Amino acid sequence: MTPILHVRLKMDFQQILLEIQEEIKPFLKEGKVADYIPALSRVNPDQFAMSITLFDGTSYHIGCSEDKFSIQSISKVFTFTKAVNIYSKALYTRVGKEPSGNPFNSLVQLEYEHGKPRNPFINAGAIVITDTLISHYKNSKDAFDYILDFIRAISDDQTITYDQEVCDSEYEHGFRNLALANLMKSFNNIENDVHDVVKTYFKHCSIAMSTKELSRAMLFLANHGVDPISNHEFITVNQAKRVNALMLTCGHYDASGEFAFHVGLPAKSGVGGGIVAVVPKVMSIAVFSPRLNSWGNSLVGTKALEMFALKTGLSIF
Ligand code: GLU
Repeated sequence: MTPILHVRLKMDFQQILLEIQEEIKPFLKEGKVADYIPALSRVNPDQFAMSITLFDGTSYHIGCSEDKFSIQSISKVFTFTKAVNIYSKALYTRVGKEPSGNPFNSLVQLEYEHGKPRNPFINAGAIVITDTLISHYKNSKDAFDYILDFIRAISDDQTITYDQEVCDSEYEHGFRNLALANLMKSFNNIENDVHDVVKTYFKHCSIAMSTKELSRAMLFLANHGVDPISNHEFITVNQAKRVNALMLTCGHYDASGEFAFHVGLPAKSGVGGGIVAVVPKVMSIAVFSPRLNSWGNSLVGTKALEMFALKTGLSIF
C-alpha cells in the first residue's frame, strides 16, 4: 500500500458522510422524481441515503440506508457482468462498447446502427443482454432466477427480491422499450420472444435494494472480480476491467462524460434514484435520492458523490 493511500484510508468516513448529508440539504428539493410509471412517481421525493463498504466489511451509512428502492438500471451492471462471464468476447457481436451520447431510451441511433445497441447500459443494450441470458438459460424463468441468485450471492443476502407492482407498472407503460426490442428483432438481434425478453428486463429493473446492500454487492467490482470478504471469484480480472470501463464511459447515459469529469469513478445510475460507484482497490459506494436531473440521474446522488470525491481525493484520476 502506498503511503498516500494509507493516509486516505485513515480518514473518518462517518464524519465525511455526515458532512455530505448536511451539505446536500439545500439541493434536496431540486430535480424531479421519475414519473414514467405510477409505481415510481409515488416514492417520497426527499429521501437521501449513502453507504460505503470497505474491503474488510466495515461499512458506514447515513440517511435511510436500510430502506429498499427500485434499482432500475443499476441491474444492468449485474446482467452485463453475468453475460460477459458467459459469452466473453462473443457478446460484442450483439452489443457495442461505446458511449451513446443519447438518452437512455433513444430509438434513433438504433435504426442508424442496424439494431446493434451502442453499449449494454442503455435500454436497448440491456434488453439484448437479457435476451442473451434467456438464450443461455433456455427460458426466461431460469434466466431471471440466475440473475437474482447472482445478485443475492454478491450481496451475501438471500432476501433480496423484486417488486411485482413496479414490474407490472413498467410493462403496462412499456411501449418504448417494446419498440426498442421490436426494432432490434427486425434486425435479427433478439433471439427470443420480444414480450418475454422485455418482461424479464422489467423484472430485473424492479429488484429492490437498499444503499447498504448495494454498496456490499459492488465490492467484487472494486477488487478485480473477487469478493474481498468471502474471497469468491465472481468474474476474471479482465472481465471486471471491462465492466468498470463501461461504467466509467457509459454508466450515466448522455451525462457519462459529465459524471467522469466531476466524480471520476466507475459508476452506474438508475431512474429509481440510486447510483453505485467503485473506488478500485478501496471500497464501493451506493447513494440514493429519488429526484433526478435532466439526464435521468439522481441529482443529489451525483452531488453527494462529487462531494465525496472532493473531500477524500478518491478518484481513479
Ligand atoms: N426500467 C427503466 C426503463 O427501462 C430503466 C431506466 C433507467 O433506470 O435508467 O425505462
